Amino acid sequence: MKTPTAPRSPDTDELLRTLQQREEWFRAVFEGSAMGIAVVDMTGRFIDANAAFLRMVGRTAEEMREVPFASLDHADDQERDSLLFRRLVAGELAHYQLEKRYVRKDGTELTVRLTASVVRDADGKPRFCVAMVDDVTQRTRAEAERELLEERLRHLALHDPLTGLPNRVLLAERMREASQAPEGEPGKCAVLFLDLDRFKNVNDSLGHGAGDELLRQVSARLAACARPGDTVARFGGDEFILFLPRVSGKEEALTVAGQVRDVLAAPLELGSYRTYTSASIGVALGECPGESPDELLRNADMAMYHAKAGTSGTHLAVFDASMHRAVVERLRLETDLRAALERGELRLYFQPIVSLDTGTVVGAEALARWEHPVHGPVPPDRFILLAEDTGLIGALGAWVLDEAARQIAWWRSELPEAAGLEVSVNLSARQLREPGLVDAVAATLREHHLPPGALKLELTESSLVQDPAAAAVVLRALKKREVQVYLDDFGTGYSSLSSLHRLPLDALKIDRSFVAGLDGGTTGAHKGAEIVRTIVALARSLGVRVVAEGVETREQLAALHDLGCDFAQGYLIGRPVPADEFAQAFLQGQGESELVG
Ligand code: C2E
Ligand code: MG
Ligand code: MG
Repeated sequence: MKTPTAPRSPDTDELLRTLQQREEWFRAVFEGSAMGIAVVDMTGRFIDANAAFLRMVGRTAEEMREVPFASLDHADDQERDSLLFRRLVAGELAHYQLEKRYVRKDGTELTVRLTASVVRDADGKPRFCVAMVDDVTQRTRAEAERELLEERLRHLALHDPLTGLPNRVLLAERMREASQAPEGEPGKCAVLFLDLDRFKNVNDSLGHGAGDELLRQVSARLAACARPGDTVARFGGDEFILFLPRVSGKEEALTVAGQVRDVLAAPLELGSYRTYTSASIGVALGECPGESPDELLRNADMAMYHAKAGTSGTHLAVFDASMHRAVVERLRLETDLRAALERGELRLYFQPIVSLDTGTVVGAEALARWEHPVHGPVPPDRFILLAEDTGLIGALGAWVLDEAARQIAWWRSELPEAAGLEVSVNLSARQLREPGLVDAVAATLREHHLPPGALKLELTESSLVQDPAAAAVVLRALKKREVQVYLDDFGTGYSSLSSLHRLPLDALKIDRSFVAGLDGGTTGAHKGAEIVRTIVALARSLGVRVVAEGVETREQLAALHDLGCDFAQGYLIGRPVPADEFAQAFLQGQGESELVG
């Protein structure tokens, strides 16, 4: 007998239809979703996944069923992920979200953003777990690339591209950090300021490629001297800094400086050339916290400057406060000199030069004078050197030349006694190297309507020996224009006699130290006379004349006369004085001529 089946109520039909419809909707969403969706049971076994998920993980649904779902996880993440899953099942978490890596069947990886949640029944019992997965591989890769790029940019901004060493910016950062470091005892730090000696020579003679290579090799050697925590930075050009954030004291800093010197002493191979380098090192010590980074660097720089200028031969100096004063003073003087030049505060003094034959004043040496508003007269030796170092010598030299020419032209035209007067102008070594010198001299003569013989140029031996070949070219060009050149302070430089023969000179000025040796009847005077006699003989053989400088006594003057000297200059005849005094004392009436003869 057929068991009668109860007719389905309209309600049930309705319910079935609704369920069917829901199932269709669900399928459409599940399958159509771009997001990967996977369903696992509470033991972590795979139940179902949509097409997007299977595409992402590169597996079929069957393959997914064969292995534990967790085997998709990247080995590094497995422990973390299974812990989270257990907490989810235990109800400790409602859901979780994380970024993780899956490994595909072919071994390739993908990064996904996963949201896992549990579906529970009416009693709250967990039934299954749904994982919603977004493939973010592209995005994370782009992010990683951006991070890498940022890292590279940061590196570029903080490092020197040639040597790879930290640059000034990073150095400043490290020094600032060290000076602010709150932890630990206050201590001492040290800065070693290095400047390579004669680096320019390498660049000039072997080329910039070799110069770069030298800097790279030096950098590597310096980096090897750094202890953990130290910073080796390229400060610029051929300058390097070693920052030691923690030192016990001066001795330790000097030990590192010694190491630096040693590593630099080994020969360098630059292509096929073998060369040597060395550095001048300035050391500055500071308290930490204490001196600001800028202060420390400035102090070390000053010490380096002393090391370079020093005669000790060690090329090493430790900063002390007196260096600071000297540099500050020098800096102030430089500023003042610049202003003095601009405001026309320099003066020219003139010192008479007499002929030992006739006793008459035949010329004058123009000597620059600077009366500092606060310090009073600054010795020319000092401000000329300063002007040379700072490049102000160009302007200063041009002013001296023009002012001397203007003065002599005026005397010649206004005073009958001065018709044949000549003026000597001193040129510094640096002026001699200026390419426009010869033209500038010619232009000055033209401008003041002076014959070439009215102007003599005095050059020191030392400026000629720096580059005798180049000096010879300039001297020959001057000779062509009939401008005479005197060799100043003769006997104090080291010019070889052979090079003197090749230079077109017109006179030697015997340095006053030899003239001073002519005094009295002592054996010293005898020796002094020998030297002057030799110089006079040399001048004769060269066909040039002799001027004696620094004549202070009548004995000296008489001796010079007897030894055959041509001209004399010195306090005995007259001190350097301003132009109007010079005219009064030496031109109008030839006041001092009774001295000679
Ligand atoms: P210099 O060219 O050898 O000048 C002679 C120096 O000897 C001058 O010193 C002069 O005042 C000094 N003097 C002259 N007679 C006597 C004397 O009897 N006894 C002693 N003890 N000294 C005497 P000053 O004026 O101090 O100049 C020093 C140096 O400065 C000059 O030596 C010259 O090399 C340089 N200088 C001066 N003016 C200029 C300038 O306009 N341009 C350049 N480039 N250098 C200059
Ligand atoms: Mg002179
Ligand atoms: Mg001189």
